[in-house]
Amino acid sequence: MMDQQYYLTDDQRAVRDLVREIARERIAPLAAHVDETGEYPHEQLKLLGQQGVMGLHIPEEYGGAAAGMLAFCLAAEEIAWACAATSTLFLVQNLGGYPIMLAGNEEQKRRFLPRLASGEITAAFSLSEAGSGSDAAAMQCAAVRKGDRYVVNGSKMWVTNGSHAGVTTVLVTTDRSKRGKGVTALLVEPGTPGFTVGKHEKKLGIHGSPTVALHFTDCEIPVENRLGEDGEGFRIAMKTLEHSRPTIGAQAVGIAQAALDAAIGYAKERRAFDQPIAAFQGIQFMLADMATAVHASRLVVHHVAGLMDRHAPSTALEASMAKCLASDTAMKVTTDAVQIFGGYGYTREFPVERFMRDAKITQIYEGTNQIQRLVIAQQLVGKL
Ligand SMILES: Cc1cc2nc3c(=O)[nH]c(=O)nc-3n(C[C@H](O)[C@H](O)[C@H](O)COP(=O)(O)OP(=O)(O)OC[C@H]3O[C@@H](n4cnc5c(N)ncnc54)[C@H](O)[C@@H]3O)c2cc1C
Repeated sequence: MMDQQYYLTDDQRAVRDLVREIARERIAPLAAHVDETGEYPHEQLKLLGQQGVMGLHIPEEYGGAAAGMLAFCLAAEEIAWACAATSTLFLVQNLGGYPIMLAGNEEQKRRFLPRLASGEITAAFSLSEAGSGSDAAAMQCAAVRKGDRYVVNGSKMWVTNGSHAGVTTVLVTTDRSKRGKGVTALLVEPGTPGFTVGKHEKKLGIHGSPTVALHFTDCEIPVENRLGEDGEGFRIAMKTLEHSRPTIGAQAVGIAQAALDAAIGYAKERRAFDQPIAAFQGIQFMLADMATAVHASRLVVHHVAGLMDRHAPSTALEASMAKCLASDTAMKVTTDAVQIFGGYGYTREFPVERFMRDAKITQIYEGTNQIQRLVIAQQLVGKL
């Protein structure tokens, strides 16, 4: 079924097949270990970098493959099928780097994009804070302009890869009274005095993907590290999230497909009442519903990715639909896979409990699914 995608170009197929091979042979065998230990998948990311996969989305003039959004989503699905934590870090390469592509000046692009494209450095994106997630414009971490520098004070939270990134797009407020219109985007590099990495969260899933707090104490960031103008940060962040949402959908599809594949395999092997459990219609109908939902989610992800590749003027509706549908599907399908495995599904002997834990985050980050439904509804009914 996964191979019957007649609408893919030869190049897109080649990306998918290359990443599928790396993911299945080199990344999947390490996934349980990454989950068990929380070890950062250095080698897996290095491998993806060596094969040019970390720069799939980056323009050719900055060392990337300029393969487009659909190719990126195909790669994301394959990596997520193998290891959700590794795929989160792959997605953050886009989430943290896209603001530079979107709003960076030539000097900023030349400074960061080639290193991101080769995988020499990784990226992070820091919008959320302890007191502001869905309501991101209520952020408190503040920057004050002093000559040719911004002096930043405050803390950010939930920063995926914030402990390892060579560049982090950090959203700060330069005027709290203006909420979103007072937000500015700054590029922060490790080693900057006054910038430290704080608490590492202990999480339900995606264990190899570090989630950290960032602290700023009189941290001076030069004005040349500002993306766009003062007050443009929120618009840059929202555009970045819209662009990134299909990739979360692709990650969710990959996790769900892995659970479906595992469930089919187990149902054909496991016997009860002198038959493989796959012979029971109750199990067959579950598998049929799981496969239908995964297929539908994949198509919705590919559709919005295709729209983005064709530079469609507006994709907010389709991007939120893709993220919401695919992540709800991943949660349902992985939970059903655990059910099909029975008691064994609840143990770490089999990977389906990991898939279920990993799937949950796709309903939460980059805008919870409640927020996606708000975006979808606003497109339907407008501002009332
Ligand atoms: C593992 C992990 C990695 C993350 N990585 C990053 C990252 O790299 N960068 C980053 O900036 N952030 C990141 N986040 C933060 C993530 O985006 C936020 O957690 C998320 O947006 C929700 O914000 P919150 O946790 O403050 O929940 P809240 O905003 O407090 O929401 C709590 C509940 O209320 C609901 N809710 C809120 N507002 C509304 C509304 N208007 N209508 C209906 N329901 C509503 C929410 O859907 C949710 O169910 C990460 C989070 C996690 C857990």
